[in-house]
Amino acid sequence: MKDRIPAQDITDAAKKRSHAVKAANERKIEKKENGDSLYQKRKHIYVRKALGVFTKLRTTLNWALLIAYFSFSWLQWGGKQAIFFDLPSRQFNIFGATFFPHDFMLLSWVLIVCAFGLFFITVFAGRVWCGYACPQSVWTFLFIWAEGITEGPRNKRMSLDKAPMTKEKFLRKSAKHLLWLFFACATAFAFVGYFSPVRDLGPRILAWDLGPWEMWWLLFFTAATYINAGWMREQVCIYMCPYARFQSVMFDRDTLVVSYDESRGEKRGPRKKGSTDYKENGLGDCIDCGVCVQVCPVGIDIRDGLQYECITCAACIDGCNEMMDKMGYERGLVRYTTENELEGKKSHILRPRLIGYFVVLMAMIIAIGVAINDRIPLELEILRDRNQLYRMDGQGNVENSFIIKLANMDQQTRSYKLSVTGIEGLELVGKKEVTVSAGEVINLPLRMKIRRELMSDPSVDIQVKVQSTDGSGYELTKESRFIGAVRR
Ligand code: SF4
Ligand code: SF4
Repeated sequence: MKDRIPAQDITDAAKKRSHAVKAANERKIEKKENGDSLYQKRKHIYVRKALGVFTKLRTTLNWALLIAYFSFSWLQWGGKQAIFFDLPSRQFNIFGATFFPHDFMLLSWVLIVCAFGLFFITVFAGRVWCGYACPQSVWTFLFIWAEGITEGPRNKRMSLDKAPMTKEKFLRKSAKHLLWLFFACATAFAFVGYFSPVRDLGPRILAWDLGPWEMWWLLFFTAATYINAGWMREQVCIYMCPYARFQSVMFDRDTLVVSYDESRGEKRGPRKKGSTDYKENGLGDCIDCGVCVQVCPVGIDIRDGLQYECITCAACIDGCNEMMDKMGYERGLVRYTTENELEGKKSHILRPRLIGYFVVLMAMIIAIGVAINDRIPLELEILRDRNQLYRMDGQGNVENSFIIKLANMDQQTRSYKLSVTGIEGLELVGKKEVTVSAGEVINLPLRMKIRRELMSDPSVDIQVKVQSTDGSGYELTKESRFIGAVRR
């Protein structure tokens, strides 16, 4: 007797077959539309506004990030621009701390921590960075918002594009592009304002008194913002962003992703509002309204499964929840969930890999915090005079000459005392105290001498010490060598 195949398996197999046929048909249509081109023909996306908790969260965060970007260059800290990257002087001022090129290691570690933080977030909740905080998404949402207030909601924008040119269409389109250009110019201005004193930048632009690099970056950033956020939008994420390509390898079966609950939603199909017998008619909870697709900024259908184009903005969750509320169904047909949960298995949000990443991330943040906190805002370099190893001064002393490079990386002028140790009787000749302005680097000639008979070796290790005399407690010691002739 033949084994009977359970009814559920037959239904699942039929479902898979129908999806495979649908996907094959879609591929045929795409091939017909695109020919053999590797680049899929772009369909214009008219994004519908979603309403819901995730959209509110994203919008609030986006505005906060935009306000921070546009305003931070205007903040003052200790009488100076709070964030200022002074490239000609090779100084980077960040909230009272001045960094120099030799702090590059610190910057490298900060970047490594940021990259590691991004890995951690991706393992935990997929591409939330893309959906909520990536500049490309933040500016795209800003430009979509500008589009909405000048051309109206989605349906109106679609009709406007199809309609012939009228006075209203011309005015609306012009207003949109002017607003886009305004945001693009403001973005470029704010960017250059982090590298050139922002308070002088406006008057200098008006007086046409800009350097070539300032002019280049203003034009470049205006054009890049206008094109990327206004015209290219999701194309940047799909074709240009490397993160979009490799992020999926960081996912595991417990990573939170935006997903459509196929077992609950299928078979999708329209029905009357309030109908209760849809399940008897073989329908699932998806009413096939298409709202989840209309609100998607990258124009994909989340019901086709996890796709690399998805930036996890959760607009489709809000859109679908709105429809579920209208129909009187339970929310969450599209939701943040994990692959394991969708398959009815136990999901582990706190898993060893994630905890491991978290511990390493915290350790790195603490180490960098300690390194920045313990960093002495003083740099000392000792360069030996290469022309003459040593000289005799005619009074029985051996003399060595050096150039010391002293950088005051603090926000205020500091006075320092110089001293040398290493050989009994070694002393500095000339100036032993020096005052260095905030952020200044000075090159100071330094001579030291010793009676010849006190030298036991022709080359001896010495220590040059720089010590602040204004009570700040900064001191730094560097090694060098004292060279001379030994009397035998
Ligand atoms: S599928 Fe949903 S979460 Fe993904 S990009 Fe589209 S709207 Fe955002
Ligand atoms: S919004 Fe929800 S109900 Fe409407 S098509 Fe998308 S998944 Fe189905």
